[in-house]
Amino acid sequence: MSYQAPVSDYLFIFNNIVNFSQITLEERFSGTTNDLVSAILGEAGKISNEVLAPLQRAGDLHPARLENGVVRTSPGFSEAYKSIAENGWVGMAAKTEYGGMGLPQSLVHAVNEMMGGACLSLQLNPVMTQGQIEALEHHANDDLKEIYLPKLISGEWSGTMNLTEPQAGTDVGALQTRAISNEDGTYAISGQKIYISWADNDFTENVCHLVLARLPEAKAGTKGISLFLVPKFLPDSQGEPGVSNSLRVISLEHKLGLHGSPTGVMQYENATGWMIGLPHNGMAAMFTMMNNARLGVGGQGVAVAEAAYQKAFEYATDRVQGAPLNGEKTIFGHADVRRMLAQMRADIFAARSIGAACAVAIDMAAATGEKKWISRAALLTPITKAFGTDVGIDVAQQGIQVHGGMGFIEESGASQFLRDVRVTAIYEGTNGIQAMDLVSRKLMDRGEAIFDVLDEIESFLATSVDEFKNYSETLAIGALDLQETTSWLIKQELNDRFAGAVSYLRLCARVLGGYFHLRAAVASGKGSSREKIADVYFSRLLPEHSGLAQAVRRGSGDLFALTEKDLGLWNH
Ligand SMILES: Cc1cc2nc3c(=O)[nH]c(=O)nc-3n(C[C@H](O)[C@H](O)[C@H](O)COP(=O)(O)OP(=O)(O)OC[C@H]3O[C@@H](n4cnc5c(N)ncnc54)[C@H](O)[C@@H]3O)c2cc1C
Repeated sequence: MSYQAPVSDYLFIFNNIVNFSQITLEERFSGTTNDLVSAILGEAGKISNEVLAPLQRAGDLHPARLENGVVRTSPGFSEAYKSIAENGWVGMAAKTEYGGMGLPQSLVHAVNEMMGGACLSLQLNPVMTQGQIEALEHHANDDLKEIYLPKLISGEWSGTMNLTEPQAGTDVGALQTRAISNEDGTYAISGQKIYISWADNDFTENVCHLVLARLPEAKAGTKGISLFLVPKFLPDSQGEPGVSNSLRVISLEHKLGLHGSPTGVMQYENATGWMIGLPHNGMAAMFTMMNNARLGVGGQGVAVAEAAYQKAFEYATDRVQGAPLNGEKTIFGHADVRRMLAQMRADIFAARSIGAACAVAIDMAAATGEKKWISRAALLTPITKAFGTDVGIDVAQQGIQVHGGMGFIEESGASQFLRDVRVTAIYEGTNGIQAMDLVSRKLMDRGEAIFDVLDEIESFLATSVDEFKNYSETLAIGALDLQETTSWLIKQELNDRFAGAVSYLRLCARVLGGYFHLRAAVASGKGSSREKIADVYFSRLLPEHSGLAQAVRRGSGDLFALTEKDLGLWNH
């Protein structure tokens, strides 16, 4: 069995878990009928299964390479990309004004997950372009929009994002790339950027780089950063790719995984660029792209988890080893193998539902402009990114374990999932940084947004039927733990919050996962597959909340009691 995109799970989640239909009641998304949603998910599933999934191995075995300064992509990638672009998948969420479909992010998120599960390294290309489209829609002037948006939306051109420099990773404010005005409305950009995803390719006519750089009079730190659009080829008077710009890919990184995606070191030498947004306000513009990308990266984690799970399940129901005590023939009959698969399934559903809830909040925020939805989207974004990618890594490594020794052998394909997904916890802001964002910026409202979610859970519990009393009670205990831990956390010093940030984020995800599993059980009924998976979640995964809450409340004292001597080589 090859990869099967989770079309029906998304339909279930939209209809029963995250109230997708509320989006379609808003004027902005009123054209998104149920039939359209089913048709789009069905088509996305088809292209994922039939066109992209067969390339996943090819990208790993035949990485993108740099030949005489030109990036050559993995076999089959060019044709598959064309199929993505020509069928309109790049510009799904983009405004119709420039040729986009204007679809809700929730739908785009689902489609991106399916494509990512099929072939993560290729999927990263349109995901980067989608982020750039959104940044330009919000911050570029009309002239730039006219030239760039139709080409990016159609997928004829692709987009990248250039923040990182050798001395400026997490600390973007340390970047040194310079921008000097050419006094004709353009800027000369000079500097080096590293780790740039899809820095170049051999299938789009142009590659448009969004580059963070400093003007000569800029202050130090993030307040002195501006954003520039720097294309590989300068558009001519007709808006078509013209002369080459002064930029080049000087090398491609050798990576643990994601080999099909060329990750480049970029050199800019007085390259021509156009400012996007206001001077020194580049981070605000870049954040539009980064927030979009954070949701997308969370979806990438779930995507790989799904693919790794499918492979592990297939192996477990085929491999014969030992005599399972329940009389079954394959290792699927062993309790421990069954445990691994059940927990993988349960966590995938939790993470997928959290991502879908975040995407719905983003759509509701865009459609209504209401504070409640803006705050909820902001709250759920770091949780979606970090929990989704942690689940991706956990499930991929469990998938290897299900395979036994064969999982460690490349031929099985199980290890590629772990190698590919590992970076998702690092790029777009490491998961540690996501957690710090959650306990600092996202709690500046004194917990209002998370308490609003907890109120929703409480209301659902109040209407919950007796049949699921056990689950309701377990969830109520977890929700109370989260509420009390949040009340404690908001009173702490920043470093104490940071020390517990990762545990707090996971505590939030565990409780949210419980809420969504309960909804799934209620919607599907006692004895259904979903109810049985919920049972596993409530008995084996949700109870983690108490250990997580304890870790949060530990503060930072124990960590800072440790010196370099305590943590270094123990030769004393
Ligand atoms: C395959 C790949 C693709 C990428 N694609 C892109 C791209 O397209 N565009 C782009 O601009 N960048 C890209 N990146 C860069 C990526 O976003 C950075 O690697 C990431 O932000 C981390 O920065 P760093 O590697 O410098 O690590 P560092 O910032 O040095 O971090 C090292 C460790 O310290 C921790 N840390 C750092 N600062 C803090 C802090 N203040 N508080 C607590 N902990 C902290 C981090 O969490 C991490 O664990 C890519 C990276 C990879 C590997």
